Amino acid sequence: MRSLCTLPGIGQKTAERLALHLLHAPEHEVTAIVAGISDVKKKVQVCSLCFNLTQEEWCRICQDPRRDKSVICVVESPADLAAIEKAHVYSGVYHILGGALSPIDGIGSSDIRIAELMKRADPRVVKEIILATRTTVEGQSTASYIQSRLKHLPIRISRIASGVPMGGDFQYVDALTIGQAMEKRSDF
Ligand code: ZN
Repeated sequence: MRSLCTLPGIGQKTAERLALHLLHAPEHEVTAIVAGISDVKKKVQVCSLCFNLTQEEWCRICQDPRRDKSVICVVESPADLAAIEKAHVYSGVYHILGGALSPIDGIGSSDIRIAELMKRADPRVVKEIILATRTTVEGQSTASYIQSRLKHLPIRISRIASGVPMGGDFQYVDALTIGQAMEKRSDF
């Protein structure tokens, strides 16, 4: 049961409930759950272009010929990407940082995928980079830092509008708000 507690979002109480469920569940159901978890570990990898989760070399967004490769939306996590996708207003591609700068937690620029973003920021291909890091202190300072690294390039740098509540985690903001924040983005 202690191993269940190591999963994000699973506290002692939830772990107990899960354990109880598994105890009473038919054997084949338990086997299927275990196989599913093991499958995730074996098959899921990160997209070699944008670092989204995928089961192939490139994720479904990077593979999609209808997505505009000249616009890159920078987000902190695959969950933030999913939240923006739900709004159906964005047709470019993404770059997942894998976190935000946080000196207090010892997370510096080399701990998130900023070097990888710099490599993708080729003005011959990219026209706009939208900074859609969260509106937390860490998210804001990450956006500022990236802007300072990119500003010498002839690429439009924009920031999503602050329709997303301060400190907001995109997962908990409705699709309409995210859609408006994307559409009303402004130059950084
Ligand atoms: Zn991708």
